Amino acid sequence: MLPDDTLANVLYVDLSKKHFRIDKRQDLFDKYIGGAGVAIQLLREECPEGIDPFDPENPIVFAVGPLTALFPLASKTVAMFKSPHTGNLGESHCGGRSAVAIRMAGYGAIVIKGASDIPLYLAIHKDQIHFRDASSLWGIGNSFTVGRIIRENEPEPGLRTIMRIGRAGEQLVSYSCVVTETYRHFGRLGLGAVFGSKKLKAVMVSGKRSLPVSDKKEYKKVYHEIYQEAVSSPVMKKYQDLGTAENVVPLNKFGGLPTKNLKEARFDGASEISGETFAEQYLGRRLACSHCPVACIHIAALREPYEKAYFYKTSMISYDYEPIYALCSMLGGSDAAAFLKLMDRIEALGLDVMSTGVVLAWATEAQERGVISEKETMGIKLGWGDYTAYMKAVRLIVEQPNKFYKALARGVDRAASLYGGDDYALAFGGNEMPGYHTGPGAHIGVLIGSRHSHLDNAGYSVDQKVLAKKQVSPEELAEALLSEERWRQILSSLVVCFFARGIYKPDAVSKTLRLAGFDIAPEDLLSIGEEIHKEKYRFKTREGFSLDKLRLPKRIFETLSPTGKLDEKFIRKTIEYVKEEMSRSPGRH
Ligand code: SF4
Repeated sequence: MLPDDTLANVLYVDLSKKHFRIDKRQDLFDKYIGGAGVAIQLLREECPEGIDPFDPENPIVFAVGPLTALFPLASKTVAMFKSPHTGNLGESHCGGRSAVAIRMAGYGAIVIKGASDIPLYLAIHKDQIHFRDASSLWGIGNSFTVGRIIRENEPEPGLRTIMRIGRAGEQLVSYSCVVTETYRHFGRLGLGAVFGSKKLKAVMVSGKRSLPVSDKKEYKKVYHEIYQEAVSSPVMKKYQDLGTAENVVPLNKFGGLPTKNLKEARFDGASEISGETFAEQYLGRRLACSHCPVACIHIAALREPYEKAYFYKTSMISYDYEPIYALCSMLGGSDAAAFLKLMDRIEALGLDVMSTGVVLAWATEAQERGVISEKETMGIKLGWGDYTAYMKAVRLIVEQPNKFYKALARGVDRAASLYGGDDYALAFGGNEMPGYHTGPGAHIGVLIGSRHSHLDNAGYSVDQKVLAKKQVSPEELAEALLSEERWRQILSSLVVCFFARGIYKPDAVSKTLRLAGFDIAPEDLLSIGEEIHKEKYRFKTREGFSLDKLRLPKRIFETLSPTGKLDEKFIRKTIEYVKEEMSRSPGRH
């Protein structure tokens, strides 16, 4: 029995019947720890095979882990669902206050099924669950406003999270996100659209209590060690100083910064959109997720005059490397203020910024090549770096007034399948690319990754650390990617922020878990990680995924990477090796 057995509480909510129950699922937490490990089991149990992602039976699973609210940087919540964007496994992680609030409310996981007949939001105050009418919130153009209204409506004491969608989720844009605490997101793969299909405007969770540990003295000691590392290690300092935006300059120098829909991998305007430029000219404040001493969330203060004389409107807008890549270099734009305004619009609408940037980049090139015309774009002339045109286009992507914008609202794969141009439609496994053209590792990593994210196995990092220095074989590359992804299943099950992966190594994880009531040796963690990874792969295969069917956009072979020209044969061989590895039976369970 865990010191805190409420971790094993799973709240099951049925939106159709406005009904809920709480079950003890000690079996799942004992075997799979929490977070991603437990979420994939709940998804497998609750998601009928072959279901349409917008079917009411598609579950939304939120899960946290045993270190949540106990140790620094265990600040994330995992969401799992069937993705409307890829038609397969949807997994997205988010910080803010979401994880700690769920744990404080007394749950390790929440499963939401069904669909409401009217717009509603869920208010979860510990074991009090309310289905509140959200008809007056539906259609509000700004997800921030929705958060503000719910905050005033739900004045419970304690830690609170408000996870809500914008217009994009209501309109079922397949890459719409769920925004929490204004600046954090369940970004990728369309959780916002699944909320929208259920007429679920928001989920508010609050709770307040303290958590027991198995040995208080040892807890204080281990806590202190982790805290010290978090506040003093140079890597964590980098996240605090300039944040991930620091990557713009080195990636550009290296020749791995996707530019103008990856027609190039170096951007002339890189210094104008660098982390240094944003810090010097715009940085207004830094924020942290709950229970994190690092505070890597960088918020720009954008001051705009709105009347003659000295009248200004100041908007606070978060920025990171990925949005800068997606809306600046990828779109050939280096106007930092215009980027921030576009970012603000995208946040308010509740779109995933990476997919949006790649979709706009594809549309710009398609128009440049004459594949589409102003007839499709409804009079908009998309041009590299033209933020006025992009501002208009994102509104139309959400409102979907014609066939073209309906296609853009489903991502570049869909748009290219209708209009042509798949050679330069930069999606991998159905998900739009992240900001790395560093070598084969970056692209293979996203292709084979369980959620087609650069965060699955950090292939870009393998490119920079290994491939830039020496040749490796397809087997070696596949091994490096798989072993990183397997270990990340443990981090995703705890659920700790990936930025703290240098702190939460196997020994430290084993030590912290012991204090939370789990006795798992470091070597056993590795086999649990492998099993969770395989469980995800099994789910994906069940839903039709095949490593044999992956599309490789030609563009990645045309633009030189820092490791040289990419070789399709090498990439296919690496994927073949991954396939062989995945078909071997798991060792532990
Ligand atoms: S390092 Fe950043 S993203 Fe990670 S938990 Fe801290 S504030 Fe959140």
